[in-house]
Amino acid sequence: MLKLYNTLTKEKEVFEPIDKENNLVRIYSCGLTVYNYAHIGNMRTYIFMDLLRKVLKYDGYKLKHCMNITDVGHLTSDADEGEDKMAKSAREQHKSVYEIAKMYTEAYQADFKKLNIEDTEVLAKATDHIKEMEEYVKEIIANGYAYETSKGAYFDTSKLPKYGRYLTNNNADELKDGARIEVDPEKKNPKDFALWIKAPAEHIMKWDSFMGLCYPGWHIECSAMSRKYLGEQFDIHTGGVDHIPIHHENEIAQSIGATGCIPAKTWMHVEFLQINGGKMSKSLHNVYTITDLEKEGIEALAYRYFTFSAHYRTKLNFTWDSIKAAQVALNRLREATKQHKNGTAVADKAKIEEYTKRFEDAINDDINMPLVMAVVWDTAREKDKSKEYYDLLMKFDTILSLDLDKEEKQESYSDEINAILEERKQARANKDFTKSDELRDKLKELGYEVKDTRDGQILNKI
Ligand code: AMP
Ligand code: ZN
Repeated sequence: MLKLYNTLTKEKEVFEPIDKENNLVRIYSCGLTVYNYAHIGNMRTYIFMDLLRKVLKYDGYKLKHCMNITDVGHLTSDADEGEDKMAKSAREQHKSVYEIAKMYTEAYQADFKKLNIEDTEVLAKATDHIKEMEEYVKEIIANGYAYETSKGAYFDTSKLPKYGRYLTNNNADELKDGARIEVDPEKKNPKDFALWIKAPAEHIMKWDSFMGLCYPGWHIECSAMSRKYLGEQFDIHTGGVDHIPIHHENEIAQSIGATGCIPAKTWMHVEFLQINGGKMSKSLHNVYTITDLEKEGIEALAYRYFTFSAHYRTKLNFTWDSIKAAQVALNRLREATKQHKNGTAVADKAKIEEYTKRFEDAINDDINMPLVMAVVWDTAREKDKSKEYYDLLMKFDTILSLDLDKEEKQESYSDEINAILEERKQARANKDFTKSDELRDKLKELGYEVKDTRDGQILNKI
């Protein structure tokens, strides 16, 4: 019995699809804005999305899952202010907005492949759905939930008493007029947000529409595309926690304006990845990509493994030590899997059943990956090496997608260093810490600092 936490109700609920007859689950995931390289924080959210898909499939459901690509510029702030992100990136890189979109789409798709994030059934580009968005806006206006100003069409938030509080407990009035939002005297309420914006002459991406040359506000694409592919009401909507207070509240407002209903039954949000206990930011030079990890000898899948160390609803802290430890652990897990593959012992049937049950309980308990990994390790560490444990691990890997069957990645250290590491491992096993410290110094002379982690020794270049 699958239970999922729903931000809308603040409860872990038993999951049942709307389309029970076909056992079909319809999901929408907010995709990337393709104006820059996606970072490992973004990837945490999409690895979770992929886990959700694979858990649902493991449980026997069929999927219709739509993810969008935002290739129309959002404005740089949430509040319809500032410069268009796509246009800014294009200007800075002397490229067209379409070249920018193509380049960063290809880049994130390459990362998804390396992370074993499988394709969704539908991948919808915003620029391919401008007509659908226009229609959606027209419906909201026709239903009396939006009005026109000299700048464009705005959603009238005063029409929804619960606006801004569907997913959060925000007191909508706390957002004081102009606190973050430039007061626009034409707007009826400061929190009203743009649905359809009249394009100034210099604006690059614009389309002919019922209001002249316009471009869409940044929330409307998800409402229009989710309805087109999944219907007015679908099962699950995913995104990162930053989407809760504005983007998803606005999606809900738009759907109520157009169709009268909240679009998704279950809303799932992934907590943020932090770096060294704080925010990732360009000014701190700590916005890392999968390519940055690879440059340090870390496999993309080691990052996937790393994200399993915390439940998706808790913050996860990235450090170089922890990602290196994750690579070491993943190597070990693959090595253990290989030993079972070549094993000739007969597995204990009761254990196979127990591990299977523990695994299924953990995935079905709101996708509790730390618990899942505990079971995976218990299976891998079984003393009796048996093909049946290997088969079980490979079954688990249909969700984990860590390529457990892959040959262990060889550390690319010299024979001399590998020999010292082995000797030091023995010394530590024998509790000969004097020897272990001597070897630590020897490694230092060779340019490496050694750290002892739960998963073994890791080396950092000095
Ligand atoms: P964006 O392209 O900014 O819309 O981001 C794409 C996805 O990544 C969204 O679902 C965000 O919520 C999510 N995201 C952004 N930063 C982080 C982070 N540090 N940790 C986890 N998810 C994030
Ligand atoms: Zn969205």
